[in-house]
Parts: sequence; structure tokens; C-alpha cells
Amino acid sequence: MKDIQGRDIDYMRISITDRCNLRCKYCMPKGTGHVKQREILSLEEIREIAACGAGLGIRHLKITGGEPLVRKDCCRLVEMLKAVPGIETVTMTTNGVLLEAYLKPLVKAGIDGINVSLDTLDQSLYQEITGQDRLGQVLQAIHQAVEQGIAVKVNAVAAEFGEGKQMPEGNATDAGEKEGDGAGTWDPKKKGSTARNWRELAGLARRLPVDVRFIEIMPVGYGKRFRPIDPERLLEEIRREHPGMQKDERIHGFGPAVYYRIPGYLGSIGVIRAVHGKFCGECNRVRLTAQGFLKGCLCYEDGTDLRAFLRDGAERPGQDWPCRRAEGTKGAEIQGRLKEAMKKAIWEKPAAHCFERLEGMTEQRGMNAIGG
Ligand code: SAM
Ligand code: SF4
Repeated sequence: MKDIQGRDIDYMRISITDRCNLRCKYCMPKGTGHVKQREILSLEEIREIAACGAGLGIRHLKITGGEPLVRKDCCRLVEMLKAVPGIETVTMTTNGVLLEAYLKPLVKAGIDGINVSLDTLDQSLYQEITGQDRLGQVLQAIHQAVEQGIAVKVNAVAAEFGEGKQMPEGNATDAGEKEGDGAGTWDPKKKGSTARNWRELAGLARRLPVDVRFIEIMPVGYGKRFRPIDPERLLEEIRREHPGMQKDERIHGFGPAVYYRIPGYLGSIGVIRAVHGKFCGECNRVRLTAQGFLKGCLCYEDGTDLRAFLRDGAERPGQDWPCRRAEGTKGAEIQGRLKEAMKKAIWEKPAAHCFERLEGMTEQRGMNAIGG
């Protein structure tokens, strides 16, 4: 369906857990808590929301988290969502740590594509960012996924990490643009910068048919602490080394990435200028948090608590995986109210983020709860 701005909303990101087996410092650093399991939507509840969304024109679903693969029934969910009439694609974003073991079940369940989040191929920086030494496992999973014929994208957050790399006071778009500190003197070789290793990351797209995408860090949750790197600058760097690089006009997905091809590379290079390039006018997505809150925009806390409609007073304290199965009239009534609530939330999707004016931001949740 269209929202109040006339944008076609056909994509929903679904966070299925706020838990994770890594502790990326911009997302869920050590010490971050998580919600009780009974607060998290059950598979049936997720399916019900997806089915309702499909009735409103949602066609593409992305399963995210936290780390979706720490939820043991994740493959079953893929299968359930693929069977929802109207849903055309079900994809997933994962940190890749557990991926290899789940590849076959995911293929069997009908997964349409997998995004693997991998910010650097530098082992010590990887460990610095994620708190764990799992780079080898992730790379192995990427190779195996390609071998299984899965469409793979590698997502790398472009920012300055490492000790002491906290963002100065100010707005997100100021960062990296202050004199002596920014655009003019932007230094991809700076220690702790994920852009420092762009050659290695881009090298994955040379050897494998995967899209490697550089995503500007957003000032959401702990992301506020780090200095963003405008991927456009990174692109200049890449172009200097590969003057033959051309814009890739083929459709790669349903998001805001802009793609480029380097002669001889099997995959493409993508950039997502999440802060410096404001693509809100073309935004096609809504987000469902692990607790069932439907959000229109990453920047604001506004949205609708869909779980409240689904459970409709049927929550039983102490029960871990509540499953409301209201049948008959009550079930139809609940579905009707759920649909109205989703319709309203989609219709009222905010016009644009305000990352360039942080005082306007109201979202307090972390990315692990929202799903990125
Ligand atoms: N654990 C899975 C993963 O890492 O792909 C799924 C959840 S994670 C929250 C989804 C994506 O959000 C990851 O690619 C992660 O790098 C990205 N992300 C987290 N915090 C971010 C931020 N502040 N700005 C930009 N991307 C962010
Ligand atoms: Fe976990 Fe993904 Fe967040 Fe990293 S980005 S802490 S892998 S949820």
C-alpha cells in the first residue's frame, strides 16, 4: 500500500530476537541486556503479522535480529513465511557465525538471499569490533553459501572504530567534515577505520559472485558513538584504483544501495549513504521489532504495538513462548484490528529521518532490537 507521502511500502524487516552471539560495539556492546523470551513474538505471531502485511501489499521480508540464527526455529520460520500468500521473497541478514551449519536447511526452506554482515577482513579489527575471533568461520560460510547457489551480499559498516574512535559532539553529517578532521583530510588508512581494508573486502567481489556493500554507520543506538565514513569518499578511493569502474544499473534488491562494477570482478560493489545521502523519498520499508512493535522509520520511536493486538490480554506471565490461538469470531476480530493497526502505522510512516539533526531523533532502542 502507499503511505501518506505516496511511497509504495512493500518491504518489511522482521527482527526475530534481540539476542546475539557477537557484541559489535556499534550495535550491542558487552553488557547490553536483552528482553525476556516471553516478550518476543512466537513464529505463529510473526506469520500472522506477515500475512496481514501481505494483505496490505508487503511483498518482501527480511529476517533480522539480534542474530536470527541464534533462534533455533529460524529455518522453520523461513519456511512458514515463504508459504504466506502474497510474499514473494524471504531473505535474511546474519553475522555469519552460525551460517554454515544452517545453509542446507535454509536452502530447503526456500531462502531467497542472505546478507552477511562483515565489516573488515582484518582479524584484529574484526575482534575489536565484534568482541570475538570468528572471522574464519564467517568467510568459510560465505564461500559455502555461494557454493550452495545462494545470492549473497556482504554488508560492511563504514565507520572509524578502535579505541578512542568515539564521535565528537555534533550532528552525524558534521562528523568527518570539520576542518582538519574530515572530508579534506579523510584518511582511509587510519587505524580502526573499516574503510582502511576496502581492498580486501572488495576482493571478495573479485573472486566470488557476491555484492560487497559499504554502509555508512547511522547514529542509532550505540552507532552514535562512532564517526561515520561517507561511502562516497570510499568510492572515490576505489575509483582512483579502478578507473574502469562503471555504475551497475541492474536491479540487485529492493533497497537504497547504488551499485558499481569493476571490470574482471564477479560481484558488484555497493554503497549505502545512510546519513549523507538522504534516500527517504524512495524508502519502501517498515520494521517489526522482536517484541512486535511496527516502526515506520529508524529515527523515531513512533509506531504501533502489534503484539498487544495479537495477544489481546491472553499473555500468561511466566510462559516463555505464548501462543495466542483465538479461534472463530474472536480470531477474525483480532485479525481485523491487527490489519487496521498495521494500515495506520504504514500510512503514517514519517516522511524522513533527521540524522543530520540529532536533537530531533526520538528512537532510544538499540539496533539489535530494531533489526538494522
Ligand atoms: N546480526 C545480524 C547481522 O549482523 O547481520 C542481523 C542484525 S544487525 C542489527 C543488521 C545490520 O545492521 C548489520 O549489517 C549491522 O552491521 C547493521 N547495523 C547495526 N547497527 C548499525 C548502525 N548504527 N548503523 C548502520 N548499520 C548498523
Ligand atoms: Fe549482533 Fe548483528 Fe548487532 Fe553485531 S550487528 S551485535 S552481529 S545483531
